[in-house]
Amino acid sequence: MADYTGRMTLWEAPSLIDFAVDPNWPRAWREGTARLLSVRPGQSPSIGWGDAVGDSTLDGSPAGLRSSRDMRFDPQQHFYLGQVDRTPVFGWLDRDDGTTSHGGTSVGGSANSDEGSGGRGARSGGVTAGRVGLRGWLARATSVDTELAMRAVALANFHDSSGFCSVCGKPTVPQDLGRSRVCQDCDSVFFPRTDPAIIIAITADERILLGHHQGWADRQVSVFAGFVEAGESLEQAVYREVGEEVGLDLAQVRYIGSQPWPMPRSLMMGFTATAVSTDARPDGEEITDARWFTRDQLCQAVADQTVTLPPPGSIASRLIGDWVGSKD
Ligand SMILES: [Zn+2]
Repeated sequence: MADYTGRMTLWEAPSLIDFAVDPNWPRAWREGTARLLSVRPGQSPSIGWGDAVGDSTLDGSPAGLRSSRDMRFDPQQHFYLGQVDRTPVFGWLDRDDGTTSHGGTSVGGSANSDEGSGGRGARSGGVTAGRVGLRGWLARATSVDTELAMRAVALANFHDSSGFCSVCGKPTVPQDLGRSRVCQDCDSVFFPRTDPAIIIAITADERILLGHHQGWADRQVSVFAGFVEAGESLEQAVYREVGEEVGLDLAQVRYIGSQPWPMPRSLMMGFTATAVSTDARPDGEEITDARWFTRDQLCQAVADQTVTLPPPGSIASRLIGDWVGSKD
């Protein structure tokens, strides 16, 4: 297992998933050595990893994921994620909103635990399975599990929202093990799309500016983010979003890194910048509060629980953590 230290993160290293299709996957599927992650799609997706036999674990190997044993491959539901340690791993689109029947095995648990509280098990008839929201998964998963989850959710959201052709309106069906969809009428082919978004840590005079979004829990604060508009560069999106949300001009805009955020299909691109002035003026609509923190003030506020920061594993958390740990 790769060890990411210092400023190196999972998303800056080569993927731990081999995206190439394993030609022997049908045999692996029949023999039960193929593995699956089930996904309930949407803005707050959840992931199930439980195996039908014995306790399931997340330990960075596919062995902790559900086996294909006693299941029939269904191209409408199952899509290929790639190989990990020579094991083919599949996603499983699960549109159920409650307990679902998986090959005769009852798999329960909360479908929508999206608060970063970690996984939870559901024991049913001697079977242990787990289901957790994607944000909760990020806080507890090992690196390859995190990659698999992001890929599975991205593809599940694609299949869930691409059932009809945008050219002629007729139904589409999955093809190429779920890597794309094709229109049954006009043969148009559709691939998963990604929407670019920027996320920006603003600093000035040894302080960082953190904002509260109107839709968040009371004490939640974070760095600033927004979608890239049509015809706009990433840097222009940074300047525009910060101008709109807190009325600040920026200098020294620097690209830091990126992270997939498939809720439903974003790619977050992280930046840092220095504010030209510290007169932050929240727009009062999206951003209802914005405050400057020194490192000590932020650490104290977190300790006192007067603010809550983004969940571990998110690029927002990394941008804030990098600044707290830096010397300038
Ligand atoms: Zn069509």
